[in-house]
Amino acid sequence: MIDVELDDSPKEECGVLGVFAPDESAARIGFFGLFALQHRGQESAGLAVSDGEKVRLRRGMGLVNQVFDAQALEELKGHIAVGHTRYSTTGASVLRNAQPVFCQSQVGDIAVAHNGNLVNARELRIEMELDGEHFDSSSDSEILARIIVRNLHKGPEVAVAEVMRRAKGAYSVTVLTPRMLIGFRDPAGIRPLVVGSLGSDGYVIASETCAFNPVGATAIQELEPGEMVIIDSRGMRFACGAKSTCKAMCLFELIYFARPDSVMYGTAIYSARERMGRKLALEHPTEADIVVPVPDSGIPAAMGYSAETGIPFREGMIKSRYIHRTFIQPDQRMRELGVKMKLSPLVDHLQGQRVVLVDDSIVRGTTTKQIVRLLFESGAKEVHVRITAPPIKHPCFYGIDMASTKELAAAIMSIEELEKYLGATSLGYLSVEGAMDAVGRPHNNFCTACFTGKYPVEVPDDLTKDALEGTADVGEIAALSHTQLRLIEI
Ligand code: SF4
Repeated sequence: MIDVELDDSPKEECGVLGVFAPDESAARIGFFGLFALQHRGQESAGLAVSDGEKVRLRRGMGLVNQVFDAQALEELKGHIAVGHTRYSTTGASVLRNAQPVFCQSQVGDIAVAHNGNLVNARELRIEMELDGEHFDSSSDSEILARIIVRNLHKGPEVAVAEVMRRAKGAYSVTVLTPRMLIGFRDPAGIRPLVVGSLGSDGYVIASETCAFNPVGATAIQELEPGEMVIIDSRGMRFACGAKSTCKAMCLFELIYFARPDSVMYGTAIYSARERMGRKLALEHPTEADIVVPVPDSGIPAAMGYSAETGIPFREGMIKSRYIHRTFIQPDQRMRELGVKMKLSPLVDHLQGQRVVLVDDSIVRGTTTKQIVRLLFESGAKEVHVRITAPPIKHPCFYGIDMASTKELAAAIMSIEELEKYLGATSLGYLSVEGAMDAVGRPHNNFCTACFTGKYPVEVPDDLTKDALEGTADVGEIAALSHTQLRLIEI
């Protein structure tokens, strides 16, 4: 499939999944679970399944339903599975780097699915290669897999603790061995991971709870930073892999990435985004006739803004839901139409109206600029842009592909300059404090680095320098890093 890229939004990182299903339906449950995590990565998908002896693997480029059909699922026999949907952050987007990563070991085959980004990947890789290790891919996830393989004979607790001792950065991981399913989360808890029950003796581990509903699973608990869960025929147990250095859950997950029907950090995402819209209204009120969301990302916050101000909520555009699923590339003339290929204005809703336009984020600003113009062309009298993500001024090194600093609109322009660039009547961003208050957790429980520049797991100087200059993809830079890291407290 050819992805028609029409916006400048940050790219989702990855979705990970683990299934323990004694009735042998792991592949089918894995498929529907991955389907629910499709929003976290659309470049490749994969499932590894164990029948207790043999591990079978299928990976491919494209969406989940392009990689798997009924026949493929039939061939993946077994009761344990790990799955992955990928958007590449480290390692080029080629089939070789698709996940789960598969490794053979003395204690049997293992498969690993990883969400996040290691900031000491290069350093670790050099160290391990000097120690005789051979790598099949350029993905940092293979580093995690090979550390586990080397230590699994000492037991899963020891193997995961060894990963946590050596790997720095963000990682939520599911691991399959022939007879065991393991899940773990980095000591800062940057990326999410949650475990649920499946019937009387089954379990599911997933990036988000939205993967539970379609397979009939029920959430048990989110893993704590540095925690692991081990599931086998004797049941489920939790263990500590490393002492948590700090709590630094990605605030952007709650503002933007997570599906609105997920519960994350103990908070229903849709409700948190509604509260963000309310806080945005309090921080940036304005006189207007209607509140219009950018579909679908701005809907909950627009509802909140409307509820707080009493200004009526009204749809102003309809989104083409299937444009991303075409195999046909648009020609140059169509590309120049930009956002119009994806969004169609409701002119009679907009004509003569003073509009509050609500969305979740501005990265480069190019999409927002096109939407503002679309609203004016459709007869809006005023367009007041309101954004629930605070200004994004710094790159992410923990698994979100945004842009280099010099491409980030809020890093290179003042609010006034950006307002002018967008062509908006006014522009207002929610504050970092407002976003955290809307989630309802203490302020020191979040990573806010892309907004504040305070990185909870220190990033080597060479990574920040290159990201600042925009000389390479941030994920690729992470793979090239060899500077020793130290953890800092937030
Ligand atoms: S830098 Fe931003 S996107 Fe990256 S983990 Fe931190 S809050 Fe999330």
